[in-house]
Amino acid sequence: MSYVRPKKHLGQHFLTDLSIAERIAASLSGHGDYKQVLEIGPGTGVLTQFLLKEEWNTHLIDIDGESIDYLHEHFPELGERIFEGDFLKDSIESKMSPPFAIIGNFPYNISSQIFFRVLDLRNEVPEVVCMIQKEVADRLVSPPGNKSYGILSVLLQAYYDLEYLFTVGPKVFNPPPKVNSAVIRLKRNDRAALDCDEKLFRRVVKAGFQMRRKTLRNALKPINLPEQMREAAILDRRAETLSVEDYIALTNQITSCQS
Ligand code: SAH
Repeated sequence: MSYVRPKKHLGQHFLTDLSIAERIAASLSGHGDYKQVLEIGPGTGVLTQFLLKEEWNTHLIDIDGESIDYLHEHFPELGERIFEGDFLKDSIESKMSPPFAIIGNFPYNISSQIFFRVLDLRNEVPEVVCMIQKEVADRLVSPPGNKSYGILSVLLQAYYDLEYLFTVGPKVFNPPPKVNSAVIRLKRNDRAALDCDEKLFRRVVKAGFQMRRKTLRNALKPINLPEQMREAAILDRRAETLSVEDYIALTNQITSCQS
């Protein structure tokens, strides 16, 4: 049997506890009523085997050629559904027919970038189940008013309902990571579109959090707020205190003053 040597630069920490792998695979709820899934970073297929047992129509993408060879050898039935590539750069939506869920023990070094890609794919991806660094998981599921609430918390919570499922310690990986891990689930909510200019919404959220200690009046200077908004009470607040709805309202306030 071949063996894949874990490579640090690819964020490879292979899960060795099969019961945890099974639990992660079982966390996919089928939200959106379909049975197709893309696994990001399958490595040696520890999760893959359970997806197949649960009869998911499974597709895999991994950047590591050695893992890809291993997967072809161990899951020959997946054939052309095994893609060698970079999830951040490849146009995966053209290789599969959406909708599809996403699952994975993500490479922790690029988990934020994976979520920005998921946001682009929000209308193709009704559900995500993933293991990430616990600290990042805490941030993503955080409600407003909390220090850990940030850009991705707002953007993801705008389109998905997020759930923290369970914590995983470092010992069940080869090699063990230096941090704790957590499994979270995202289910697409029923907001087809935000009730505001979505591009401006993203700019407001990003600018607000870039200077999170300042009031929005200061943090949003780069956006050139319209003159009439100068006295708006919401600008006395700081980015981390606003809910998704508050950001939508703020975006609409800016747009209506501009027109
Ligand atoms: N799912 C496996 C491996 C997790 S390690 C397990 O639980 O054991 C993370 C995996 O992501 C590795 O296999 C690594 O090769 C892969 N990976 C890293 N960067 C990637 C990228 N940009 N696109 C796709 N896969 C990537």
